[in-house]
Amino acid sequence: MHYFIYKDAELYCEDVPIKEIADQIRTPFYLYSHATLVRHFNAFDSAFDGIKHLTCFSVKSNSNIAILRLFARLGAGADIVSGGELYRAVKAGIDPAKIVYSGVGKREDEMEYALKSDILMFNVESHQELLVLNKVAERLNKTAKISIRVNPDIDPKTHPYISTGMKENKFGISIEDAVEEYKFAHRLNNIEIIGISCHIGSQLLDVKPFVDSLKRLLILKGKLKEAGISIRYLDIGGGLGIKYSDEQPPHPIEYAEAIKKEIKENDITLILEPGRVIVGNAGILVTRLLYKKEQGQKKFFIVDAGMNDLIRPSLYGSYHEICPIRKRNTPLVEVDIVGPICESGDFFARKRKIQDIEAGDLIAIMSAGAYGFVMSSNYNSRPRPCEVIVKGKEFFVIRERETYEDLIRGESIPAFLI
Ligand SMILES: *Cc1c(COP(=O)(O)O)cnc(C)c1O
Repeated sequence: MHYFIYKDAELYCEDVPIKEIADQIRTPFYLYSHATLVRHFNAFDSAFDGIKHLTCFSVKSNSNIAILRLFARLGAGADIVSGGELYRAVKAGIDPAKIVYSGVGKREDEMEYALKSDILMFNVESHQELLVLNKVAERLNKTAKISIRVNPDIDPKTHPYISTGMKENKFGISIEDAVEEYKFAHRLNNIEIIGISCHIGSQLLDVKPFVDSLKRLLILKGKLKEAGISIRYLDIGGGLGIKYSDEQPPHPIEYAEAIKKEIKENDITLILEPGRVIVGNAGILVTRLLYKKEQGQKKFFIVDAGMNDLIRPSLYGSYHEICPIRKRNTPLVEVDIVGPICESGDFFARKRKIQDIEAGDLIAIMSAGAYGFVMSSNYNSRPRPCEVIVKGKEFFVIRERETYEDLIRGESIPAFLI
């Protein structure tokens, strides 16, 4: 459920007609609904009521500091994958004691920053990383609290690019090798083991892979206990899917119930790292139709947003619903909706049947709140779009549109060319 709704023929975000925003700030722009963000966060988090848990929002899915602040106020922690994300999370007011740090390629300077910030834990993804982390912690006279991210070898049946928990993926340490790795970590002076973590993929539409991997984590926890290693945190990652088109993802309550059923111990705190399920349907990309054109049998709608603004269709072939901001009583046409970028992969939809519209009309690319702006780039030297949040009757710009000056910031012409 979200708050992007038609009133008569006009698409609103909460109580604001989207056209009014477009008239004031130009297109394209990302638009988020405050009420939707709050509803989604609370629906997810409260589904785990009854067991000790911490919801660490996955910063990589949407890292705007206003959105992070909103979740901080709702009690969220953060799941980060870089020093930059730590910086954002801390700036936004997320308590470092609620931050977990994942990722296969943490640099020493990033580890140092996280250790100095006293984050909750590092999800260690390799033997070598463990050694480096121990060394960095020793240098700082600190103890790094860790979990080992295990790879439970579960097929999440999602797009291969966003599947992360199978043997052939680069993530985590194989679950068979995990006990040895834990024993090794246990002997290191500046490492304290507190958890086990995993994250098996994104946009999962079934609870079974989550339950299967949790079962494997619990077996591992038992083995570790026998080895004298006690586990306080079980981090089961993120990955719950959302509805883009006709998917039927489990409701967070269904997901939580399935998880809760497996957890009989009360000596652990569950960590969740949701991203997409919270922000995905809380944001849209608003763009304007520039031109219509026909090429042979094909019809193209050329809009003013491009793959640099939203890359998911080009990168994963993802489906996004596309809606006119003002509905017209026109016949359906079959079109490719494409951007201005000089790449044939620059499209938002192919062979899509939508109601015919005219140049100048606004359209909404739905479900763009996760992996939208965060994956944007300046390709073709296009300033990145602005981000706006609506709360009730008001809207607020939470990231300004970039300028041409922003495009060349940091660049310089060396002396030999002057
Ligand atoms: C990307 C990621 C998440 C969030 O995944 P969603 O599918 O957006 O919920 C959580 N944890 C880790 C380690 C990730 O890499």
